[in-house]
Amino acid sequence: MSPSTFQAMWAALSPVGRDARTGGYRRFAWSPEDHQLREWFAQEATARGLELTEDRMGNQWAWWGDPDTAGPGLVLGSHLDSVPDGGAYDGPLGVVSALAAVDALRGAGHRPNRPIGVANFVDEEGARFGIALVGSRVITGLLDADRARSLTDGDGITMAEAMRAAGRDPDAIGPDPETLRRVGTYVELHVEQGRALADLDAPVAVGTDIWPHGRWRIDMPGEANHAGTTRLADRRDAVLGLAGVIQGTREAAERRGCLATVGKVAIEPGGVNAIASHATGWLDARGANPDAVRGVIQDVTAMARAHGGEVHEESWTPVTEFTPDLVSRMREVLGGIPALGTGAGHDAGVLAQYGIDAAMLFVRNPTGVSHSPAELAEEADCLAGVHALAAVAADLTGGER
Ligand SMILES: [Zn+2]
Repeated sequence: MSPSTFQAMWAALSPVGRDARTGGYRRFAWSPEDHQLREWFAQEATARGLELTEDRMGNQWAWWGDPDTAGPGLVLGSHLDSVPDGGAYDGPLGVVSALAAVDALRGAGHRPNRPIGVANFVDEEGARFGIALVGSRVITGLLDADRARSLTDGDGITMAEAMRAAGRDPDAIGPDPETLRRVGTYVELHVEQGRALADLDAPVAVGTDIWPHGRWRIDMPGEANHAGTTRLADRRDAVLGLAGVIQGTREAAERRGCLATVGKVAIEPGGVNAIASHATGWLDARGANPDAVRGVIQDVTAMARAHGGEVHEESWTPVTEFTPDLVSRMREVLGGIPALGTGAGHDAGVLAQYGIDAAMLFVRNPTGVSHSPAELAEEADCLAGVHALAAVAADLTGGER
């Protein structure tokens, strides 16, 4: 089997987990779709003669060269999972581009002076179990294994049960320094999740940093009662309380120059003719300034408490600077292309926090939309991204050791 081209890889991935009605993707961790994507990755690795390994969390690594004897190596990659009704590019573009970059290097006769790996990180989006970046966070120890195992999806299935159903051993998950020791440098290519490159009229940028960001759970109690017999004045309606807080969250974010989003709510008992006894909202907040983000959460907490509710932090990630020397070297190699910060979290940020040299490349997205079927990258820009990734990899693995 000869290695597939960028276009063939893209075509092979296109139908997996795609909802014909919306055009959006549903590729959730440890689902049948996820399994199909992982099998695809394994086949592409094998077709290239790359050594395929899985770490304790199930992240996939495909190595050109032996990272144990000749490492640490350079790793290129991203993730293959998606948010609900996500776009085609967020994640897969980085994995496909990494494999295509390996092909380009080989085609050019490049002989790397250290191993080059391609990574597929599992459960990057956290779409199923609510916590993002699980694959990289667990192996770096930033997410406790017990906590990861006990996370539940919307059907009440724990991550441990989901992993077991997918033929994995959840008891094995945990920090994996042996795997991480093989990674000297990590470069993740990703579709841009905004309009900066479209405005700059440039196809590719180097990523400089990831904004501080976090997730919070807003719990709002109420009192269950009959929708037809309870006077309005006598009600304690959890949905009304939560709705007020959500509206106020938007205002707090505007005031403080941040982004804040409640994109998921759960209402109990969830009957049309029942006043809600409990409402839960999940808040995502981020911004260039961590104090401003914290300020939004203070405002939200005060509003929730005024309604008898409470706000719980589920995750918080401080600003992550990518490795400055690596960023400037990449910009030099790529001829001074634009440099961008981002409000989105990425595995590259987790690895940078762990102390691995890391940086990113962003590929222009003409719609500026992401986490939606409208997410887009033109093929010419994707190929420019592959070219940039290959040039960076050639530079980082060229010359004398
Ligand atoms: Zn992504």
